[in-house]
Amino acid sequence: MRRIYFDHSATTPVRPEVAKAMYEYLKGENYGNPTSLHYFGRKVRKALEEARDKVAAAIGATANEIVFTSGGTESDNMAIHGVAYSNKNKGNHIITSAVEHHAVLNTVKALGKEGFTVTILPVDKYGMVRMEDVANAITDKTILITIMHANNEVGTIMPIKEIGKLARSRGVIFHTDAVQSFGKIPVDVNDLEVDLLSISGHKIYGPKGVGALYIRKGTRWRQTLLHGGAQERLRRAGTENVPGIIAMGVASELAAANMELESEYLQGLRDSLISEVTGRISRVKLTGHPALRLPNHASFTFEFIEGESMLLSLDMKGVAASSGSACTSGSLEPSHVLLSMGIPHEVAHGSIRLTLGIDNKPEDVSYFMEVMPPIVERLRAMSPLDQETEFAMNSDCAACKVSSSCSRT
Ligand SMILES: *Cc1c(COP(=O)(O)O)cnc(C)c1O
Repeated sequence: MRRIYFDHSATTPVRPEVAKAMYEYLKGENYGNPTSLHYFGRKVRKALEEARDKVAAAIGATANEIVFTSGGTESDNMAIHGVAYSNKNKGNHIITSAVEHHAVLNTVKALGKEGFTVTILPVDKYGMVRMEDVANAITDKTILITIMHANNEVGTIMPIKEIGKLARSRGVIFHTDAVQSFGKIPVDVNDLEVDLLSISGHKIYGPKGVGALYIRKGTRWRQTLLHGGAQERLRRAGTENVPGIIAMGVASELAAANMELESEYLQGLRDSLISEVTGRISRVKLTGHPALRLPNHASFTFEFIEGESMLLSLDMKGVAASSGSACTSGSLEPSHVLLSMGIPHEVAHGSIRLTLGIDNKPEDVSYFMEVMPPIVERLRAMSPLDQETEFAMNSDCAACKVSSSCSRT
């Protein structure tokens, strides 16, 4: 069967150059522990530091400011927790947004139970925080602002540079989750005026289980989560994931070097996908910002259909998409991102996310447009919501009440 992968925000395939570089550190004599002083250790240590140089260069940082982690989730946890606990004497207030990835949202919520005060800023209908809300939320107790660069579910790009400027002028530490933006739009820590920034390997055509955290020199931050050895200059204990880190270095280098060309290509594909979907299928809305969005990101809500049903029907036709993280964790709640954008419950249930990658071709969009309209037509014909408009407009979650597939984990 023809298989089309339209889920690059969930994960990406590994670039062949990255896999090749990684394999070098899984074979032969490249197995040393980088902490060891002997030949085997030194050899690997050198490669590890070269990888650090590459990651640093890709985001405009210096090598000492890069800490390797197990991925975006760990980077987010480490950034937020580390700032919170080393600035307790200054204050206990943390500001974030309602549309953050759970790696950020659940971390600040956990801190909320440990004596920190958390402000979760609302977003506008495009999923964007308002600058005046950020400014008004800052108090003399504020120690950290953590707001993502680009949203994974709706692709909206936040005004990070402006927030960075504001945070700096108010003496507040600023972290951004750049897991989705890195490799697709410019990410430069000095241009964005951020103090901490998270990236992940598997979202940039690298392997899973490796990431990095940028910590600006002089930032009040300390290691709080992993107790152990002195690796990563006491910032992240545990023997380094050498093959993963080597891969992260190459993936970051390629992400930065190819960003402009690849993004231009992806944007062309994405625009044709958006115009075809909204032009040829009725009662569809683009979610997220129409212009300030990731170049590879298209997300929609289809009235009166369930995202999960679309996803499963598409999968049967060989198309891999995502339902915008609705119904994850086995709960009946639709995506927190869509709800906080003011999209009604029953509409949010009909969300689907199509995220393109460098291997996608224009033919993939054509194939999608062959299979999608009949799927929508069939599901709408079956939908009790489609017949009962009044019921669907009810703010109680109508879709939840009639759905059975939604309860899957
Ligand atoms: C994927 C993702 C993460 C988590 O990264 P992992 O490496 O999978 O732990 C964090 N934030 C955003 C915005 C993401 O898209």
